[in-house]
Amino acid sequence: MKVHFWGTRGSLPASVNEGTVRAKITKAVKASQGHILKDDSAINEFVDSLPFSIRGCFGTNTSCMEIIGGDDYILCDAGTGLRDFGNYVMQQGTQKQHTFHIFLSHPHWDHIQGFPFFVPAYIPHNVINIYGCHDYLEASFVTQQDFKNFPVSLKSMGSNIQFITLEPGKIYTIAGFTVKAFQQKHPGHSYGYRFEKDGKTIVYSTDAEHKQDVEDIHYPFLNFFRNADLLIFDAQYSFSEYALSKEDWGHSNNLNAVELSVRSGVRHLLMYHNEPTMDDVKLEEFLEKTRRYLTLYAESYPLRIDIAYDGMEVEV
Ligand SMILES: [Zn+2]
Ligand SMILES: [Zn+2]
Repeated sequence: MKVHFWGTRGSLPASVNEGTVRAKITKAVKASQGHILKDDSAINEFVDSLPFSIRGCFGTNTSCMEIIGGDDYILCDAGTGLRDFGNYVMQQGTQKQHTFHIFLSHPHWDHIQGFPFFVPAYIPHNVINIYGCHDYLEASFVTQQDFKNFPVSLKSMGSNIQFITLEPGKIYTIAGFTVKAFQQKHPGHSYGYRFEKDGKTIVYSTDAEHKQDVEDIHYPFLNFFRNADLLIFDAQYSFSEYALSKEDWGHSNNLNAVELSVRSGVRHLLMYHNEPTMDDVKLEEFLEKTRRYLTLYAESYPLRIDIAYDGMEVEV
């Protein structure tokens, strides 16, 4: 199975402007001095050799992740990345009826604001199942598309949209996966999801704060993350930023991410819900610091650590 990230920013979309692009081009041109770039293959090889912050971009969209390998389309959260996903589906044609299963961590704005722009929701034969544990999930979607906020109401979108309330801790079978929700610390609560299929486990845990009780040997998240092949984890803040000014804001830091991954036997950690004020250079440095911290915390533990970016695809 695979995971595709359509949106990875936290809180609100991040901008990329003329200055951002110009700085990347300037660095690339400087780095190219002395290289003989005589054909496309040489150019591509040179581009591949550049740091990700120069040749790429962590992206701008808010939370939306697709799990590929189930019976239908499976998504986590409906941030602005959902718009790009919908456009991708539309490019495959509109004749076929599609079913989408969207698991919502919580209805904060950055996790639902892509839905009014999700074009497949306007196609009458499509089915959209929206799962979550908040009893006001449907009301949040309705309010978002109240006429005062958006010109098209939820009920006039055209497709068959259902809201399904899940009970945390209960095991469900949905689209070929077993799925379990888990309550997380966040203003108004959020919920993480553990997806299992064919002996593989993906855990989606965003907008979750881990406080002092994280040190407890029976800390409940250790079981929730246990032996996950892939853990998608809210690491919006660095530890110092968290400790100095962002405690109780409902998000975690990179040290929590490493420590909980090691303690629960995770194989691949993907830091997610990226801080929108961190540019590509800062995020790249943040990743290097986090990888260095792993060598201090548990040098021999074979944890792969990456930061998710818009368009990233990960094999599980
Ligand atoms: Zn969020
Ligand atoms: Zn939130």
